[in-house]
Amino acid sequence: ATPTSIMVGTGRGAELGVLFRKGEALQLLKDARVVAVDKTGTLTEGRPVLTDLEVAEGFTRDALLALVAAVESRSEHPIARAVVDAAQQAGLALPPLTEFASVTGMGVYAMAGGKRVDVGADRYMRQLGVSIDGFAAMAARLGNEGKTPLYAAIDGKIAGIIAVSDPIKPTSPQAIKALHALGLKVAMITGDNARTANAIARELGIDEVIAEVLPDGKVAAVQRLRAAHSAIAFVGDGINDAPALAEADVGLAIGTGTDVAVESADVVLMSGNLQGVSNAIALSKATIGNIR
Ligand code: ADP
Ligand code: MG
Repeated sequence: ATPTSIMVGTGRGAELGVLFRKGEALQLLKDARVVAVDKTGTLTEGRPVLTDLEVAEGFTRDALLALVAAVESRSEHPIARAVVDAAQQAGLALPPLTEFASVTGMGVYAMAGGKRVDVGADRYMRQLGVSIDGFAAMAARLGNEGKTPLYAAIDGKIAGIIAVSDPIKPTSPQAIKALHALGLKVAMITGDNARTANAIARELGIDEVIAEVLPDGKVAAVQRLRAAHSAIAFVGDGINDAPALAEADVGLAIGTGTDVAVESADVVLMSGNLQGVSNAIALSKATIGNIR
């Protein structure tokens, strides 16, 4: 493409709310065969709410929610806010903590009221050697509903299960249809558990799911997709997405996402959702296709 056509394409993009930070992205996007998309905050709102709470024998719902919320009050994860909000709404007082640690991509740990409290994914409980068998059927049901199940252990024993649900953005279904209409495949990359990820993918008609990816595993996931499909566009919003945005052939950041994501991206979607992606690709095809 000529410098003029790139300038025209970039200008047209700006009108559509698609900011090309690099002219190169406009040339490369037309070759994308797969659009890989982060789940939390990109396909979904990124603001989960607590939907379910079941306790093991010997625990009460309020006591468990207070302990779990106390631990989560020190975490920055969106899941943490959902739990703390629920405890606040229930008017619960949170016990003070004497120790806290966050285990990336796994869960959180604290000492509260002389008890060790762990909250997190099934793989975190497995790592701790905590049996979650009693809640396996419930976790499967919650996951199939697209909810994220989390377990709470107290002093190394399973104490209950919690689920949070993160609503799909109203714009996501249409955005995925538009990508399919352009002949692209859509893949989801997420740290969430496989059952939950697959339920959401089914609902949205997403073609491929890479789930239970640890935060530093997103780059490897992009590389794997590229090896299987060639040119990859990656769309994300979070701090964790920055390396994958840089690794992809074209990285597109949600404009309302974190600064790090926006700075690592080739393209910024000002709409704050996925709708600009198909516009960006169509624009690339039009701009580069016209001038040979
Ligand atoms: P994602 O942003 O895609 O959910 P993360 O790597 O941040 O990926 O988290 C992966 C999983 O780790 C979460 O789905 C959850 O099961 C668990 N997890 C992470 N942080 C917390 C937390 N503060 N409380 C409970 N579980 C957590
Ligand atoms: Mg995200």
